[in-house]
Amino acid sequence: MRIVLCGGAGYIGGHAAVVLAQRGHEVAIVDNLSNSSARAVERLGEVAGMPFEFHHLDIRDAAAMDRMFALRPVDAVMHFAALKAVGESCEKPLDYFDNNIGGSIALLQAMRRAGVRRLVFSSSATVYGDPERVPVTEDARLQVSNPYGRTKLVVEELIGDLCRAQADFRAANLRYFNPVGAHESGLIGEAPGGIPNNLMPYICQVAVGRRPELSVFGGDWPTVDGTGVRDYIHVMDLARAHADALDYLVREDRNLTVNLGTGRGVSVLELVQAFAEASGREIPYRIVGRRDGDVAEVFADPSLAQRLLGWRAELDVRAMCRDAWRWQSANPDDYAD
Ligand code: NAD
Ligand code: UDP
Repeated sequence: MRIVLCGGAGYIGGHAAVVLAQRGHEVAIVDNLSNSSARAVERLGEVAGMPFEFHHLDIRDAAAMDRMFALRPVDAVMHFAALKAVGESCEKPLDYFDNNIGGSIALLQAMRRAGVRRLVFSSSATVYGDPERVPVTEDARLQVSNPYGRTKLVVEELIGDLCRAQADFRAANLRYFNPVGAHESGLIGEAPGGIPNNLMPYICQVAVGRRPELSVFGGDWPTVDGTGVRDYIHVMDLARAHADALDYLVREDRNLTVNLGTGRGVSVLELVQAFAEASGREIPYRIVGRRDGDVAEVFADPSLAQRLLGWRAELDVRAMCRDAWRWQSANPDDYAD
């Protein structure tokens, strides 16, 4: 299939591009490079063994999107393109509405004009907010607590309406839990600009000497050791799920909303310990106050994805830490070296 990956130069889309190319698909990457770089695109080509077709454009640019879609018939779009920093979304909600919701509407319109009728959308466990029970199943109540989360929920709903209105449109909403790790080559990985918001890239930067210590946000949560518990999933397992979800849309001709996680909760201190073992580096940390809007414990019930897609996460926390460290130690300044 010919597949367009919007936001495909980024962390998750890039790993998905590699997996899709390995499976024999023709991949075209569309990205405005607002949170990635041409260097990252080059590296993706190195990993895949040949350069990717790359279109430097914004999904909100209707004319450019029409030109891109007109090049050759497209079988499916995977939509990773979004701004993703929760804190920033509280400060600049309009930017998030414009890029994430406006961008998605523009993309759906361009797909409609081009007659593309399959979509895989990057959603998030953030649509569950503070879940009433864990593990979280897909029928749990949806509730969001920040503008970023709202953009994910709204876009899921827009896609749902479109599927109801357009009989032949098929979409998969993939609710990612906490993607971490990197391709085993160490050539590509997570490259957050500025101070990382997420735990794993922060640990990586402490390990590589870019930051003195990790702040652990809260030691008094009602969890196994008082620190927050999440469901970390290796980005290569996640990437594989995208290929499987697209196969499902084609094979079953039905829409899909699934959790993508391992089903296992891991605390902050457990992840710090696993990373220290994998890297052989000490990770100095200090327990500080809770972060605004944080929740104690979120992990997935991933059984629906297993039932429908035949997919399950295979790589454990050790592999996640090993691969994150291989990437960070070989690229201390991410793609800027
Ligand atoms: P990322 O920032 O590395 O990748 C997103 C890419 O989209 C970037 O390369 C960016 O330049 C591009 N982009 C953004 N707006 C664009 C636009 N208007 N036009 C064209 N390109 C645009 O982020 P990621 O971690 O790879 O996340 C991918 C998707 O998965 C996002 O939608 C994110 O919200 C979602 N998600 C991520 C996580 C996570 O923890 N990383 C968790 C759940 C969901
Ligand atoms: N966390 C932390 N220090 C950091 C970043 C995160 O202690 O510098 C904690 C955070 O409070 C949460 C867990 O690590 O319990 C995962 O946070 P992340 O932001 O990576 O994911 P999310 O909270 O969005 O699931």
